[in-house]
Amino acid sequence: MEDIKMEEIVSFCKNYGFVFPGSEIYDGFANTWDFGPVGVELKNNVKKCWWKRFVQEDAHTYGVDAAILMNPKTWAASGHIDSFSDPKMDCKKCKQRFRADNLIEEYSKGEVAAEGMTNEQMENYINENHIVCPNCKGFDWTPIKQFKLMFETSRGTVEGDKDVVYLRPETCQGEYVNFLNVQRTTRAKIPFAIAQIGKSFRNEITPGNFLFRTIEFEQMELQKFCKDTDSMDIYADYKEKALKFVEDLGLDKDKLRFHDHDKLAHYAKAACDIQYKFPIGWEELNGIHHRGTWDLSRHSEFSGKKMEYMDPETNEKFIPTVIEYSIGADRLTLALICEAYHKETLEDGEVREVFKINPCLAPYKVAVLPLIKKVHGTKAEEIFAMLSKNFMTTYDETASIGKRYRRQDAIGTPYCVTIDDDTLNNNTVTIRNRDTMEQITINVDELVSYINENIQF
Ligand code: ATP
Repeated sequence: MEDIKMEEIVSFCKNYGFVFPGSEIYDGFANTWDFGPVGVELKNNVKKCWWKRFVQEDAHTYGVDAAILMNPKTWAASGHIDSFSDPKMDCKKCKQRFRADNLIEEYSKGEVAAEGMTNEQMENYINENHIVCPNCKGFDWTPIKQFKLMFETSRGTVEGDKDVVYLRPETCQGEYVNFLNVQRTTRAKIPFAIAQIGKSFRNEITPGNFLFRTIEFEQMELQKFCKDTDSMDIYADYKEKALKFVEDLGLDKDKLRFHDHDKLAHYAKAACDIQYKFPIGWEELNGIHHRGTWDLSRHSEFSGKKMEYMDPETNEKFIPTVIEYSIGADRLTLALICEAYHKETLEDGEVREVFKINPCLAPYKVAVLPLIKKVHGTKAEEIFAMLSKNFMTTYDETASIGKRYRRQDAIGTPYCVTIDDDTLNNNTVTIRNRDTMEQITINVDELVSYINENIQF
């Protein structure tokens, strides 16, 4: 569907129980969202599909579920304590936000090294040189503020004793610090990967754009440990796998593209994103990064433990190179919602909202609808009990059958099963397809296998 606006997606999600504004009764809390009864199923299915594809179906990938709160030395080693904050300023005219040091470096074509300047010196330089907003060419800046992107909290076992700890801003450190444990317990040979799905937290100050950028989000990511000589092939392989995964889930090929990073970290050989054409434009959906030996070397240095691998054939010891593949579960869920949401005008002129989501991701796989509550309700409850042992099933006995179909269309239920007199007399039901609206009659005993066959990923 063309030109769908983010506001339409937000209100659709709110109306049908996909996503609500966080803490809404207190007027919300910027850049937080709560998944509702339908949304939580969708997002859980996104995570299940990712895990199935990248962990279950890959004999050389092992999962972990590491603690969110890590020893603060982790964040010293990773560089986050020193550098995960930005000197930012806003253009009051167009509301765009920029890093002050970047503005100066770009203006002076690299002649002035802004990183050594205080915020006051940077402000003076920007004013004296009349550096305008690169976006709207205006000259109306807010003062510079240093924004730390890591959330801090504290921990103290004794009254008055408070040690700063951080909410992790990325999940991957949980894999790096467990590299030795996982390799020892699985006896994995490189190349192998450690994968994790979990929450990350970033004190993002840029406008949210719904689920696209939030201060708390889930990452689905893996770190592949390999020999440096194999690393570029593995990098290319994950680019392909990452693209295939989102296409298989149902994102349109024409709305996906690779975007190579212009600036590489000093330790990286390559880095790229897959971008998706969101209603707000082309934006990063996931990243694939060559991280060299940086992460494990830093943890070796800061922990004093040798983060090495011994090649069983040559007995050579070395620090493996890492290829990282990371995708946000919430951001991917948003992309899938944008892709699936359709408004269709039917032959009779009625407009139906239909959520054409891949059945493997559908919040409910089937809806059980008794034609007349009083007559068919008991049988329908029996069928609900049978189906719900196998997959998420919903039950609706209110309103006309047409209205009930519409509601299921809008939340993406691929199948509606209607219980009527034929069910009581012949043990058959009609099963209606969400996308084609066609109905077929099948025996109740065949329902589970029929649905199961059509909801696999
Ligand atoms: P961006 O450039 O959009 O800030 P990033 O390059 O900092 O993202 P990574 O650190 O590589 O992102 O994180 C991997 C993935 O996690 C991203 O591709 C994105 O899908 C997701 N992600 C990152 N930050 C957020 C956020 N604030 N809200 C939701 N998802 C996020």
